[in-house]
Amino acid sequence: MANIRDMIPAFELYQPTSVEAALDLLDEHRGRSWILAGGLDSFDWFKDRIKRPEAVIDLGGVEEMNGIREVENGIEIGAMTSLTAIERDERIRSRYSVVADAARHVATPQIRNQGTLGGNISQDTRCWYYRSGWPCYRAGGNTCYAAAPQAMNREHAIMGASRCVAVNPSDTAPALVAVDAKMIVENTGGPRVFDAEDFFIGPAIDITRMTVMKPRDLLTRIQIPATWADAHFYYEKVRDRGSWDFQLVTVAAAFQMDGGTIGDARIAVNGVAPYPVRLEAAERRVRGTSGDEAAANAAGELAIEGARALRQNDYKIPMMRNLVRRAVRSVA
Ligand SMILES: Cc1cc2nc3c(=O)[nH]c(=O)nc-3n(C[C@H](O)[C@H](O)[C@H](O)COP(=O)(O)OP(=O)(O)OC[C@H]3O[C@@H](n4cnc5c(N)ncnc54)[C@H](O)[C@@H]3O)c2cc1C
Repeated sequence: MANIRDMIPAFELYQPTSVEAALDLLDEHRGRSWILAGGLDSFDWFKDRIKRPEAVIDLGGVEEMNGIREVENGIEIGAMTSLTAIERDERIRSRYSVVADAARHVATPQIRNQGTLGGNISQDTRCWYYRSGWPCYRAGGNTCYAAAPQAMNREHAIMGASRCVAVNPSDTAPALVAVDAKMIVENTGGPRVFDAEDFFIGPAIDITRMTVMKPRDLLTRIQIPATWADAHFYYEKVRDRGSWDFQLVTVAAAFQMDGGTIGDARIAVNGVAPYPVRLEAAERRVRGTSGDEAAANAAGELAIEGARALRQNDYKIPMMRNLVRRAVRSVA
């Protein structure tokens, strides 16, 4: 098991000032490098000496990856934009408030000043067995300690698990799924665009990654389409402590209203699976309704279909059901 130490292992530090230079470095140091954004997740790994990259590519000087701009069909956020900038941006607050709300729910003001959107959605899971250096499936071993009969798994998954039961820890991830954000991922071969719901992956696809990104890839920007601008939004994060804490369960939802009726809906929940879960059956159920009690209850039941608790996390099932109900009721 790892102990937190004061010294991090040595690495070569690279500080590119353009996306092109960053991509070249990722190619050159393929598989031996680490992308450094705000460092809030990265330095934990380095200090614990569990991850020992040879080359660290610090994106702090890549100005083109920082900032929020309006684009033809929505808004574009550079991956290096701080969570504080997103939380405070007037355009995001007024037109895509679920994203500003999500950014505001991350950790503390200091962490939001330093932490970036790209880092927040690319961060690794917080499963303490894995993060403490236990040789679990995700770390290349052959068991999941968190799923063992006596495991401490109060914060782990109730769905979407496949050998590994760790959950995605990001507060902004479900909001980006709710607004149908597009993730622009680049490598020296060119850019690719992923829907937010496809960007996050579960262990059944690859147990060592939480997103589609492979070692040569760089998330450069996130686009939020205007389609969901000015929708009715709902965001609620349940955590143990009011001051700062990772989520237990979070819901993020967007409802396009047609008078008093829900024309279209996107509902996502995080903290329940290794990836933010989009609830398409619940969305279908609430379309065409006014978000009334019957629709809210039915959506809540559909949300938890297939959920299976571990030893210590059965509370997450009613919590998820209730958060989805509340999201739908907020419309009425
Ligand atoms: C005390 C504490 C409390 C926290 N509480 C919360 C919380 O409540 N909610 C929450 O959501 N998070 C929380 N976090 C996590 C923190 O907010 C995120 O780790 C942070 O936002 C990560 O952003 P960063 O810019 O520091 O990324 P880094 O730590 O630098 O990077 C994180 C990961 O993403 C990769 N990465 C970063 N940028 C890119 C990119 N552009 N392209 C490809 N890969 C990239 C890095 O290689 C690394 O693997 C907490 C962290 C701490 C230390």
